[in-house]
Amino acid sequence: MKAKERKKVAPGDNRREAERLGTLGEEIPMTDADALRRCQELAEQARMAGEPAVGCIITREGALIAEAGESVHRLCDPTAHAELLAIRAACAALGTLDLHGCVLYSNVEPCHMCAYALREARIDRVVFQRRVGPIGGTQPTEPLLGKWSEDWGEPPIVEIRDE
Ligand SMILES: [Zn+2]
Repeated sequence: MKAKERKKVAPGDNRREAERLGTLGEEIPMTDADALRRCQELAEQARMAGEPAVGCIITREGALIAEAGESVHRLCDPTAHAELLAIRAACAALGTLDLHGCVLYSNVEPCHMCAYALREARIDRVVFQRRVGPIGGTQPTEPLLGKWSEDWGEPPIVEIRDE
């Protein structure tokens, strides 16, 4: 019998269980659904504060590394998109510019600016819920998140969860 067997929880209950146990970001990995739910909460908080409704989190092996809501008005900074703030926070938290192994979740498609930043940071996987049209980093004519680059190598795996 294994000494440290991970407690089994039902899918979707991971976050609530982690909060109850005080182990958020440590013991119980977040599912994609948990992560997107947290993005929606952050987006709602941003909206209530008069910001565009965008929320973003970054995880590694299911552990929460960083989270942010859109803050362009609060910071008087047009670059204060949720994704950029989360990338900055994740790099600071991990003490590295290299976010290999990390997943970025957002309730909306990352724009070109944020797509550039997450390629620079070498994030492996991007999951978002809603496309944003021509300003999106996956739009077909200039898919910043979809092509190999000499500077960045392979693009991240991109998943759209617009259910
Ligand atoms: Zn952006």
